[in-house]
Amino acid sequence: MIEFSGLKAQRERIRPRLEAAISAVLDHGKFIMGPEVRELEERLAAFAGVKHCLGCSSGTDALLLALMALGVGPGDAVITTPFTFVASAEAIALAGATPVFADVDPATRNLDPARLREALDGLGRDPRGLRPRAAIAVDLFGLPCDYPALSAVLEGSGVHLIEDAAQSFGASLGGVRAGAFGHVAATSFFPAKPLGCFGDGGAVFTADPALAESVESLRVHGKGGHKYDNARIGLNARLDTLQAAILLVKLDIFEEELALREAVAARYARNLGDVAGLGLPPEVPGARSAWAQYTVELPQTHDRDSVAQTLQARGVPTAVYYPRPLHLQPAFANLGYKPGDFPVAEGLCERVLSLPMHPYLRDDEVDFVSEVLREALEA
Ligand SMILES: *Cc1c(COP(=O)(O)O)cnc(C)c1O
Repeated sequence: MIEFSGLKAQRERIRPRLEAAISAVLDHGKFIMGPEVRELEERLAAFAGVKHCLGCSSGTDALLLALMALGVGPGDAVITTPFTFVASAEAIALAGATPVFADVDPATRNLDPARLREALDGLGRDPRGLRPRAAIAVDLFGLPCDYPALSAVLEGSGVHLIEDAAQSFGASLGGVRAGAFGHVAATSFFPAKPLGCFGDGGAVFTADPALAESVESLRVHGKGGHKYDNARIGLNARLDTLQAAILLVKLDIFEEELALREAVAARYARNLGDVAGLGLPPEVPGARSAWAQYTVELPQTHDRDSVAQTLQARGVPTAVYYPRPLHLQPAFANLGYKPGDFPVAEGLCERVLSLPMHPYLRDDEVDFVSEVLREALEA
């Protein structure tokens, strides 16, 4: 069986280094906010080219901390895409604000700047009287959004741009790294993300010192000048020292892994470019994806479940990210959306299929996956 996410291969490669890093934490015993957390934050900030990085407990909490630090709450609208992992919109609801969806671009599968503008204009006529406060742009499957266009739409509106870089840490656009877009960015270190730990973890990035200070307070119960001084209501949302130690080891090989993922993607593109009706991830000029996923769109003529079963029977695991758009999830039923509201997202949910993607896929494995998919589609 071909590995879908490559975590086992990675673990075997660096096991002695991981064990040494874990042992060092067991020895010093500073499990909460130990020295590895600060070291990781400094290295991640340098990596992303952003002034401030604050580690936290998950990507979801990173988004929530960003929203809380911006003062987003009840009565506020936050615009995001319905074609994403639930956390992008869940964080908005957790902050007490109202998610407002805007459709994605069919080629990039990321928030469409034209649809963002429509959503923003629509809020002006919305009977709920919500204040537009922020937009969360999601770098889906590792590809950065069109930030110049998104920023242009929000220019002068007072609406903050937040980058959900949960899947794109390591990616770049025009030489600017994911984590550096918008007013504030959030990433995730969930094990299967491009840079993953061995549990839950995340980080917030920002160039804004006041915002960074708020996040630092919010992640530790809204602490003030000292531990038992409570300046605001916050969360218990720190990054564990053990996870930071693991991430430091993985960061050492991360650049190399990104290049290996790119090579896998390029090989898939070469192998599959001529399969009739198959949609491949777009090539965006100036963009380097982190290749969290390699997601294709099957032709409408084929049933996705049976294609996935055919692949599975030949030892090729696949996954569907995501089978249902967020505006049609029961959790968001209160928002009153209906089928047909976001046709691009809905169409993608019906046709996408993610293929095995990780740095340790061998050429012959990529070729095998490609061949089995081609056979399934040309049968
Ligand atoms: C994984 C993910 C999150 C949430 O990250 P967790 O660390 O699992 O909480 C948020 N947004 C997107 C787009 C994700 O893929």
